This record gives sequence, structure tokens and C-alpha cells, in this order.
Amino acid sequence: MRISGKTVVAGVAGRPIAHSLSPLLHNAWLEAAGIDAVYTAFSPPETQFPAFIDGLRGGVIRGLNVTLPFKEAALKAADEASLEARTCGAANLLIFHPEGRIEARNTDGEGLLYAFTRQTPWLRLAKQPIAIIGAGGAARGAVAILHAVGVPDIRVVNRTLSKAQVIADDFDGASAWALSASTPALDGVGVIINATSAEVGGENDLGLRFAALARGAVAMDMLYRPLKTGFLARAEAAGLHIVDGLDMLIGQAIPSFEALFGRSPPSTIDARALLLAELDRTT
Ligand code: NDP
Repeated sequence: MRISGKTVVAGVAGRPIAHSLSPLLHNAWLEAAGIDAVYTAFSPPETQFPAFIDGLRGGVIRGLNVTLPFKEAALKAADEASLEARTCGAANLLIFHPEGRIEARNTDGEGLLYAFTRQTPWLRLAKQPIAIIGAGGAARGAVAILHAVGVPDIRVVNRTLSKAQVIADDFDGASAWALSASTPALDGVGVIINATSAEVGGENDLGLRFAALARGAVAMDMLYRPLKTGFLARAEAAGLHIVDGLDMLIGQAIPSFEALFGRSPPSTIDARALLLAELDRTT
């Protein structure tokens, strides 16, 4: 790649950020598409994030993906936001328009749907009760997209019940449940999604009784390091179909690339194989 005075700059902001797979993926797409652009990583101190974003106004760079812990702050820093970003209360993409405007979007929901489409193409999400474990930003985003595609019964199950209640109050058909071994929240559920940041494995199984789920149910984990997390290993041992979180990352990156660079990622790159090789090398 040759960087010149005309090279467009975009990137991802998070803290920590060194582990991010996004630069590897976007730069592979850029190179294969022959686009004169570079995608790099930024890690501003937390208190400096609003000033950092403000300083990029006017198209200093084309745009930024945003990850933990900046997604809520990114929405606040923008002048306008898509319906998805407003519904989630968070943004994972900021576009810096040349005249100074900052636009917030959220493509994580598309990423979640992409993961199911790729790994369980036969699944009809809107046909069954779905349990989301967790009540942070990722869980809210999942509830928002599942509500948008018509899932009638969404159960938000969290260690801190009050946080689940705040999300459930915002969406028709969503209910709040406390995470405990005796919770009836999993009874008859067809899809369970782990949206906690907990390390599941060893002593910690989050108290989840997979046996309560419907026959042939699907378990999805948003975490992807390792690819088969403790949550997914337990779900598989209980006879569930499993969906890993790597395709969610790819599925949010595709619309991000389109928004940043104005064209679809080239199909010549096998994004999953590229990222799996990197995970193998670094995990
Ligand atoms: P938050 O920090 O906002 O929320 C964390 C959630 O995990 C809370 O509900 C918290 O419960 C729960 N939790 C943490 N530790 C435990 C524990 N030991 N036992 C039970 N519950 C626990 O994180 P986010 O919502 O932003 O992200 C969640 C995960 O999803 C992250 O690991 C993130 O990397 C991943 N993610 C993956 C994406 C992908 O592309 N694959 C995209 C977005 C997120 P409580 O409220 O009780 O504290």
C-alpha cells in the first residue's frame, strides 16, 4: 500500500484497542478493492473522547467505528443519529461530513442478524421466544433489532434486575428477569444470546439451565475469544445449535465499510478465514 497526500483515513476508536480485528479486516478489503485509504486504530483517554471527536470535524478523517467504552459517548458527540443508534442509545459508527456535521449510526444489529443468517440460515428468529442474557449496551442493541424484526417475546435476563427492567420498559413484548439458577425465563426459549462480558467456564456457568430451552434451540455468544466460548461449549454439550460471535463482528463491519468508502467489500476476501487465522495466532 502506498500512502500519499490523497489517502483517505478512517479507523476504529476504543480503549483498549490493540486487540481489535477491525483494522486487519478493513485494510484487507481496501487493498483488494484498490481504494486509496487506510483504516487505523485510536485509543483516546476516556475523559478526552468528546474533545477528540470534536477535533475531527470537517472531514479530517472520513469516519470512525467506535467500540467499548465509547459507544454511548459517540452518540452524544454526534449532531444527528440514525433511528438504530437512537433506539440503542449508542453508536458504533461516526461519519465526519466535510461541512462539519457528525452523523452517528449503529450497525451492530445488522451484525447480529448476519451471524444467524450465516450460521443458522434455517432459523426463523421471529417465530420463537428469545432470551438475552445481560443488560448492557450490547443487550439493548440486540433487543432493539429483535424487536424491529418482529420477535414477539424477548426476555432480558440479567444479574442486576433493575437494568433489565430499564430495557424491557422501552420495547413492547420485552420482559425483565433476574439471572438465577431457578429462573423460569428460559422455559421454552428457542434462541438464547449471551450479551454479558462474563467469562463463562469453570465455576461460572451463569446458572443457566440449558435443559429448559425448547428442543433444537440455538445459543449465540457475542464474545469470540476463544471462538468456542465456555458458554457455547456448555450449550453444545446440552444439544443446542451454536452461533459464534465472529460473524457478528463481520456483519457490522460490512455496512460500516459501505458507509465509509461508498462501495461493498470485495467478495475476493474470505473475511471469516482471515479473522480466524488471526485469532489462532493471537489467542
Ligand atoms: P456492558 O459492560 O455494558 O454489560 C455487561 C453485562 O454483563 C451486564 O449486563 C453485566 O451484568 C453482565 N455481567 C458481567 N459480568 C457478569 C458476571 N460475572 N455474571 C453475570 N453477569 C455479568 O458490556 P456490553 O453490553 O457493551 O458488551 C457485552 C459483551 O458483548 C462484551 O464482551 C462485548 O465485547 C461483546 N460485544 C460483541 C460484539 C461483536 O461484534 N461480536 C459487538 C458488541 C459487543 P450487571 O448489569 O449485573 O453488571
